Amino acid sequence: MNEKLKPCPFCGGEADAMYTYSVADCKFYIVKCLQCGIETPFKHTEEEAIKTWNTRTLTEDQKRAEEVMQILRESDIALSKYDFKSVVELAERLRKLKESQEAKS
Ligand SMILES: [Zn+2]
Repeated sequence: MNEKLKPCPFCGGEADAMYTYSVADCKFYIVKCLQCGIETPFKHTEEEAIKTWNTRTLTEDQKRAEEVMQILRESDIALSKYDFKSVVELAERLRKLKESQEAKS
């Protein structure tokens, strides 16, 4: 690894890691947070994956999910390291549902 990885932009997790997948002769690189499981899209080089990770910003859905996670952390609900990803998916679904309802009215 020739470039330093920034902390996770979503959960601040320090345990970021490189993973490589091989499909036939093709190699793919991603950077993944070991704490919340968020990962970059597949990239063809390690440098590209690192660059993508280091320049990531939160989408609206991810910001909303982060707010929900903060509320959950303040309550006594136990969170697993994969929950953030699930909450992001939930936020995306709720937004799509809202959009389709607005389209109907
Ligand atoms: Zn994370």
